[in-house]
Amino acid sequence: MAESPKSAMATLLHKQRDAFTAARPEGLDVRRDRVKRAIALLKENAEALCKAMSADFGNRSPHQSMITDIAGTANFGKYCLKHLDKWARAEKRHVQFPLGLLGAKAEVRYEPKGVIGILSPWNFPVNLSFGPLMQVLAAGNRAMIKPSEFTERTSEVSAELCARYFDEVEVAFVTGGPEVAHEFSALPFDHLVFTGSTATGRKVMEAAAKNLCPVTLELGGKSPVFLGRSANLEQAGERIALGKMLNAGQICLAPDYMYVPEEKEDAAVAAVELGVHKMYPTLLENEDYASVVTDRHFDRLQGVVADARDKGAEVIEVNPADEDFGNTNARKMPLTILRGVTDDMQAMQEEIFGPVLPVKTYKDVDEAIDYVNRRDRPLGLYYFGQDSGEREQVLRRTISGGVTVNDVLFHVSMEDLPFGGVGPSGIGSYHGVEGFREFSHARSVYTQPKIDIAKLAGFKPPYGAATEKAVRTMMK
Ligand code: NAD
Repeated sequence: MAESPKSAMATLLHKQRDAFTAARPEGLDVRRDRVKRAIALLKENAEALCKAMSADFGNRSPHQSMITDIAGTANFGKYCLKHLDKWARAEKRHVQFPLGLLGAKAEVRYEPKGVIGILSPWNFPVNLSFGPLMQVLAAGNRAMIKPSEFTERTSEVSAELCARYFDEVEVAFVTGGPEVAHEFSALPFDHLVFTGSTATGRKVMEAAAKNLCPVTLELGGKSPVFLGRSANLEQAGERIALGKMLNAGQICLAPDYMYVPEEKEDAAVAAVELGVHKMYPTLLENEDYASVVTDRHFDRLQGVVADARDKGAEVIEVNPADEDFGNTNARKMPLTILRGVTDDMQAMQEEIFGPVLPVKTYKDVDEAIDYVNRRDRPLGLYYFGQDSGEREQVLRRTISGGVTVNDVLFHVSMEDLPFGGVGPSGIGSYHGVEGFREFSHARSVYTQPKIDIAKLAGFKPPYGAATEKAVRTMMK
């Protein structure tokens, strides 16, 4: 009888963990070789992967896929190779006076955790599978990856390629729908990295908790844009349009809604429209502009707009060539700006994750700060403006996973900055040295000198004068 997916995954995990244990200690050259193979897999099969992503989305520009999924991820692998030696070095730590003089030593060794599970979403299917993988491998671990069922072709191609470039005890893909995903998240991994929605993240953490498996949760949320009074509107409008239309807004960090000074609302909306016109003169037949991934996601976005309209929002479709979107099944949707939004609208309640941009206005920037603070802590936060006092007021009074000033999204592309959310937008982070540490165990190693430290410190019974003296010193 064929093995069930559940027990096949469990078997694979055991095999990987056994191989991991048997191979220890593995030199850094082994890690480097694995990262290099992951980079080679991406470089040598870029075209096949881009084709698969385009087929999965209905349309997705190979240029975009090369930037967001292939080259960006390969480059992150190169960054890991460059820093691996430094990251992996043991760190000397201080011992309390006078232990150092007596020959005591303390250090932290960053050691691999073992087998790490990676659960990834569909919006950047290669980047969000292979990106974490680069750092998981750099930290000396093995990996099992379960990609999204919504980008099935990309998952299949990735799985085939993985089997060609890696032994299954190093890295392996498993594919399947939410049921397989749930079983995957219930496996006793040494660490689990999940990228996806906050709702699914909750389920993943619950399943992982049964095994006390540590998690990194890269989730979503409503990332606000603060447009300050000193902002260069034309520049901000174009940058917001770019960030909102890249991948048709299906980005965890996409600017979700925009907060503008009330007297500048018309000008700010016009600036975003101008940005769209400049970058996307047409949309329907324009390969640069991605489709919404499935009919279900498309219908959800149409529903968000209809709900806003019904509840009194002004709906502005930015359709530069006046194309007819009604008679197409391409799942393309023009950027849709919503003015006059209220909190009872879906657009202000759920993460938008598509080309819809609600606009809110403020008299005083504190109103916008208070509004953001009353809601879930977002993954990203954006401030546009030249007023450093106001910028610091916004940054110091809010909390978010990360920030880009005078643009959107870009902080995620800085390889040396940790990327992650806070609270409902995520737990833990990767990229930067923080990512290496996230996937490593910081093992404390203390070496006791020959001299009887316990006696000297008064820790050794029979307790007496030495103990009392030690306590007095510590309580001073
Ligand atoms: P999703 O949560 O629906 O799915 C993500 C993964 O979880 C898929 O592989 C899926 O198979 C799996 N899954 C589904 N049900 C599961 C269950 N019960 N238990 C365990 N796993 C399960 O997310 P999505 O729709 O693919 O992606 C969109 C979301 O991801 C958005 O909310 C977005 O903000 C977020 N996201 C976050 C980041 C980030 O880095 N923070 C990046 C991209 C996307």
